[in-house]
Amino acid sequence: MVDWSKIKKIDGHIHMIPDAIHAANPDAEDVWVFADLHRYQRIMDEYNIKRSVIMPLNDPCLMSMEFTISAVHKNLYKMKQRYPGKFYAFADVDTRNSSAESVEAICKAIDEYDLDGIKLHPNNTGIALDSEYNRAIFAYAQEYRIPIAIHSYPDSGDDPGAADRIVKVLERYPNLIVIVSHMSAFQWEELLPTNAYVDISAILPDYVRTYGIKKTNEILRKFGAERLIFASDYPDNRYLQPDEIYSSYFDILNQMDFTQKEAEKIACGNIEKIMKENS
Ligand SMILES: [Zn+2]
Repeated sequence: MVDWSKIKKIDGHIHMIPDAIHAANPDAEDVWVFADLHRYQRIMDEYNIKRSVIMPLNDPCLMSMEFTISAVHKNLYKMKQRYPGKFYAFADVDTRNSSAESVEAICKAIDEYDLDGIKLHPNNTGIALDSEYNRAIFAYAQEYRIPIAIHSYPDSGDDPGAADRIVKVLERYPNLIVIVSHMSAFQWEELLPTNAYVDISAILPDYVRTYGIKKTNEILRKFGAERLIFASDYPDNRYLQPDEIYSSYFDILNQMDFTQKEAEKIACGNIEKIMKENS
């Protein structure tokens, strides 16, 4: 049996808040207090997480004191620099800017700030995934082989991040490297025929609560070890406290039937492959 707490892992989706934001909010008591780069090192050591992917929140107020996209990207760059080799970070999109300005900011984020991909959060921005605004971003990402992580935890068919919007985007940009964060939740079936990777962040405990272990295992199997990416969404989870997230994830994953080789791909290999292609 694979012991998920021990095998080498890259967490494909976490959140960290810059030190300056923590310093400006000394009385905060929400989960974002746990999104602390230094405190998180202990967790990485304890669970053999050799690297994690920091996702921005498409909300510049949480990621910088200046509330600008370039300040957000600079902060993500600084977080990577602070612990060399331990983090990847994805570029953010601020939809107050024009689509062309967003592409320009992404370009700078990749070239100058050493960021590793793009994060789109259609629910936070209110801009539907398949809308005109995102086209220039998709075209750019496809051309330069930059991975895009898409938040998709839809609760209805017309949700801005609904699975069928992802399908439409992939029909239009078939060579786009897409990681669907949260597996499109309960619309997962629509993603099966696509070539998108899926990250199990946030959704895994929700599947187990809804479907039980056996069916959750079957759903993960339908995607297969080549498309699944281990990810937690630490420290943010609908049902779990920050300090329960990893132990709950490992407890669930330890009950799945993945072989050692398959687990290695899900835990580390797939995201490493995506990142190599981009570097
Ligand atoms: Zn997230």
